[in-house]
Amino acid sequence: MTRTSFDYLIVGAGFFGSICANELKKRGKRVCVIDSRNHIGGNCYTEKRDGIQVHIYGPHIFHTSNERIWKWINQLVSFNNFTLRPVANYKGSIYSLPFNMWTFSKLWDISLPEEAKAIIESQGSAVPNEPQNLEEQAIKLVGTDIYHKLIKGYTQKQWGKEPASLPASIIKRLPVRFTYDNNYFNDKYQGIPIGGYTQIFEKLLEGIEVRLNTDFFTDTLPGYDNLIYTGPIDRYYGYKYGELEYKTTQFDHRLIKSTSNYQGVAMMNFTDIEVPYTRIIEHKHFENTPSDHTWISYEYPSQYQAMKTEPFYPVNDTYNNEMYAKYKSLAEKENKVFFGGRLAEYKYYDMHQVIESALDFISNHKL
Ligand code: UDP
Repeated sequence: MTRTSFDYLIVGAGFFGSICANELKKRGKRVCVIDSRNHIGGNCYTEKRDGIQVHIYGPHIFHTSNERIWKWINQLVSFNNFTLRPVANYKGSIYSLPFNMWTFSKLWDISLPEEAKAIIESQGSAVPNEPQNLEEQAIKLVGTDIYHKLIKGYTQKQWGKEPASLPASIIKRLPVRFTYDNNYFNDKYQGIPIGGYTQIFEKLLEGIEVRLNTDFFTDTLPGYDNLIYTGPIDRYYGYKYGELEYKTTQFDHRLIKSTSNYQGVAMMNFTDIEVPYTRIIEHKHFENTPSDHTWISYEYPSQYQAMKTEPFYPVNDTYNNEMYAKYKSLAEKENKVFFGGRLAEYKYYDMHQVIESALDFISNHKL
């Protein structure tokens, strides 16, 4: 074996790849991590701009109910007590998210949970049977008024598809509450790492050879015995069964020098189809950063083009899931090639779920 040879080549320096690298190094393995981008951290990457930690690939709010994962990440970084309480802007009117008594009272001028339930039940009766898609699921959960003002346009923009052609599971991510509680998540633990996410990856990858701007498919690679691949699985197999669909987002990051507080909240969703972006993120609110300026980001969902744009979200409808199943059966036959993470497993993972899957992968992995 030559000096440039590694026990493991890991493709992708996001959570899955970085955790595997860290754990394998601890077990005495020689590891090299490559990433096609010019930084580590995948889509969790944050960058300090004018004193403010900017979430370059969209807002990342850490949340979990899993004690083990919470303890694990707190060994690497300290969290603040940020709680996501976003608002929806529909044609200039502001509504509370997720759907809760603040939303219902503003929409229908009511104050009691029983009143809200009666309205939703009556509107939801438009879907008498088990919901078959996102549109039906949304109407059943929150009724037609909320569907038309706060869900339909946002979903069409985000996914570039009609809600009736999307899986019901997507909307089930959002809580519906008959209390005046506008916490976006139900999890026991929530927060933002003080000082941003990138430091977590710096710690995980400490002492490990990391080659940035290195593409697995087109660049010269070092020798290796095992491969851990966290990129899109269809690309790995040369799109043999077709291209899996992913959604992507483009960000327009802007410094506003003239104001210390642009929108008064970290995340404002624009739910009207006429507004071209889905949301504006104001980063300083994540860490309550004092400054007389602010950084905001407009998010524009856009169509993913294989090998040209960055894939963000898997589109887990039946067509794509069936295609993924074929790739997965190829992956299962591999001997020294392992797949993990949002893109390779084609799963709409949150951060805590990827972390758990990487830690499980390592503990079940035969060295
Ligand atoms: N959604 C919506 N209106 C909103 C926020 C979310 O209709 O104001 C729907 C939309 O279909 C979205 C889904 O709920 O894709 C899940 O939202 P979430 O905030 O979990 O998406 P992510 O955090 O992945 O961007």
